[in-house]
Amino acid sequence: MTRVIKLKKIDQTLNRLTHSERFMKQYENIRKEILSHPKIITFLKANSSSIDEGMIERSLMKLYEFTTQNKDCSHCQSVSLCKNMMQGYVPRLEVQGKSIEIVYERCEQRVKEESRRERERLIQSLYVPRDILSASLSNIDIDTKSKMEAIKAAHGFIEEYMKGEKPKGLYLHGSFGVGKTYLLGAIANNLADKHVSTLLVYVPDFLRESKAAIGDNSLNEKIDFVKKAPILMLDDIGAETMTSWTRDEVLGPILQHRMADQMPTFFSSNFNFNELEHHLTFSQKGEEERMKAARILERIKTLATPYHLDGHNRRT
Ligand code: ADP
Ligand code: MG
Repeated sequence: MTRVIKLKKIDQTLNRLTHSERFMKQYENIRKEILSHPKIITFLKANSSSIDEGMIERSLMKLYEFTTQNKDCSHCQSVSLCKNMMQGYVPRLEVQGKSIEIVYERCEQRVKEESRRERERLIQSLYVPRDILSASLSNIDIDTKSKMEAIKAAHGFIEEYMKGEKPKGLYLHGSFGVGKTYLLGAIANNLADKHVSTLLVYVPDFLRESKAAIGDNSLNEKIDFVKKAPILMLDDIGAETMTSWTRDEVLGPILQHRMADQMPTFFSSNFNFNELEHHLTFSQKGEEERMKAARILERIKTLATPYHLDGHNRRT
């Protein structure tokens, strides 16, 4: 009985030995492969003062994981096509105390896609075409002196705003197609780079929608949304068919709120202040009407400094 047991034991031991020998061989091959991976060589060289043999042995599986996850990302088109196990993440080796660890970091493509989404979140727009959102202050075409002045003022605004001040917005006026909306978009983009959120509203559509919302409870919500935007840009004011109702119940309260709280507000218009005042007066109703229009104008003047833009019509 005891002999049988002894024989079995010897058998098992022999078995284990041959197995482990095979295992050792495989291990040695993989080890060689890992340690000859160019990125591993670079890493070990760069950190040679803090890495010893023992650490390499203990962290061999981490290094192995790194070699399997280190794919060539140079032709990547989109995170959704990512070849890595963790989509949009790339491994990086790091010495942590006495061991080597892998940290996964967002890849270049993921960072790019996330910042694009962040920008879309930061620049909200109501009825303003999306292509205007590609405008940029740094490569805007400056074809006239007046545009130069307005761009200078825009930079001044951004600088003051970023210092925590409450600067006045700009009232950009000038004829159709000179680039008023484009400049607003460029300012919004520049602010988005600084993580500041802007709401761009195309006034004619907004007022039309507001009128359609009379009597349903989304009207207050709509007005509130515009009232409370950290930075508001009212695009093309004056191009709408204003009624005394939209003037007094929509535009008036928005401007009043923003003036009281000194909230940055920009405008663009085909009209200068005088022309806009005239546009806002529904003259058939006499003196009271003129007063109401004048009050709106006062609010706009308090909120924004006028800049005239000239130049050719860029739409033709
Ligand atoms: P406005 O609002 O004054 O009527 P837009 O801002 O809509 O004019 O500009 C008219 C067209 O010209 C748009 O297609 C816009 O993208 C383009 N545009 C305007 N300003 C510039 C600029 N500085 N550089 C390049 N394109 C511009
Ligand atoms: Mg415009």
